[in-house]
Amino acid sequence: MAAPAKLTEYIDQNADKFIDRLAKAVAIPSVSGDASYRQHVFDMATYLKAELESLGVKVTLVELGKQMLDGQEIQLPPAILGEIGNDKNKKTVGLYAHYDVQPALITDGWDTDPFKLCVDKETGRLIGRGSSDDKGPLLGWINVLEAHVKQGIELPVNLKICFEGMEESGSEGLDELIQREAGPGKFFDGVDCFCISDNYWLNTRTPCLTYGLRGICYYKLTITGPGRDLHSGVFGRMVHEPMTDLIQVMSKLVTPQGDILVPGINDLVAPLTDEERKRYESLDYSIDDVDASAGASIAVASDISTVLMNRMRYPSLSLHGIEGAFYAPGAKTVIPAKVSGKFSIRLVPDMLPVDVDRLVIDYVQKCFAQLNSKNKVEVENLHGGKPWMADPTHWNYVAASKATEAVYGRKPDLTREGGSIPVTLTFAEALGVNVLLLPMGRGDDGAHSTNEKLDRSNYIQGTKLLGTYLWEVSKCA
Ligand SMILES: [Zn+2]
Repeated sequence: MAAPAKLTEYIDQNADKFIDRLAKAVAIPSVSGDASYRQHVFDMATYLKAELESLGVKVTLVELGKQMLDGQEIQLPPAILGEIGNDKNKKTVGLYAHYDVQPALITDGWDTDPFKLCVDKETGRLIGRGSSDDKGPLLGWINVLEAHVKQGIELPVNLKICFEGMEESGSEGLDELIQREAGPGKFFDGVDCFCISDNYWLNTRTPCLTYGLRGICYYKLTITGPGRDLHSGVFGRMVHEPMTDLIQVMSKLVTPQGDILVPGINDLVAPLTDEERKRYESLDYSIDDVDASAGASIAVASDISTVLMNRMRYPSLSLHGIEGAFYAPGAKTVIPAKVSGKFSIRLVPDMLPVDVDRLVIDYVQKCFAQLNSKNKVEVENLHGGKPWMADPTHWNYVAASKATEAVYGRKPDLTREGGSIPVTLTFAEALGVNVLLLPMGRGDDGAHSTNEKLDRSNYIQGTKLLGTYLWEVSKCA
């Protein structure tokens, strides 16, 4: 069954009220990465608890312990676990969103106060920190609950809600909580599928469903030699220089076209199927879109499906920086004694960090040995995470696709993201259910950036989308 018309009517009629709700949430600067803002993150949790309870949700604020931040030990903000409905004849949908935000100061280059929602009537933009990432989507669920309550419509599914306040700071404490609350008799017991609204459309036009995220392995490659920094006029060509060795080795990792040169890496990648290739060919995205988002005409190929597959379904290797190198202005003639090159590989199925580590470390050592240098090399993995992919033909995706058609009048694109949302994999693995990423905002929302915005239409249509999705899920076999 489609969502009752009364529901979407209510959402349209109460658009301004929902925008006020977003303004209230944006006004609480719940920055998780700065100890001096911690009280605001707690205030945000308290605000949401009251909102959810007023709509009939049973809420628990779960303490997650302490953390070290800015040299002091402080309390982690709580996870919000909420429950509504316990009808054995209904499906149970798990929901995740986060209520913390990235830091923002007007001096960063914002045109308006980042913590005062600016409603731009002309462009329809709702501008403020967290509008799109992730307060708008989180409040979308609360708007949906309100629409049901106020219209006297019973929810078509049971809901288990998990909202966290540390997403922008590594989701500290959340993995353990999910593991702890999975299994018989625990909070997440009985969840049939999961929905996360915390990403974006690929472009500014076409709604999408996201079924994959890349993982990552991040490396530090250190070369040491002299006992101290040396003068090139005195030691140049007399000794082996660490920087020369490092540049040689780093140049053997990836080609300017993006091909990874570490042997064996490409063999780990799941082969491309015909069906999958077609999915990329049908995505609404062009080389112009790539150029616009990169700010220059620098795509590695002229064929858009190749470029998109490079971001979504193939691994990539990027060189990030060199620690210890001379980088200040001027012409210092130093020979640095110790330099560390930083690079990372984005992982896709079926690459496992442990296999990638082995191949990378072996290869780097081999490349270094070929230099016949008397310097020393060390390679370490600074952090890693597995890739995630869901089955996009699962009923959870079918329901979201039907909901998108009902609200936007068009089929959504099926996309994978180049980046990572690690909690996605935790939900998928700990609960063993299909996880759907159902974005509300557009590709140009500027999450984490200055002048972050959510378009009014994305907020209001997006609220309808979340509500309609629940109704579509309820009728899935
Ligand atoms: Zn987010």
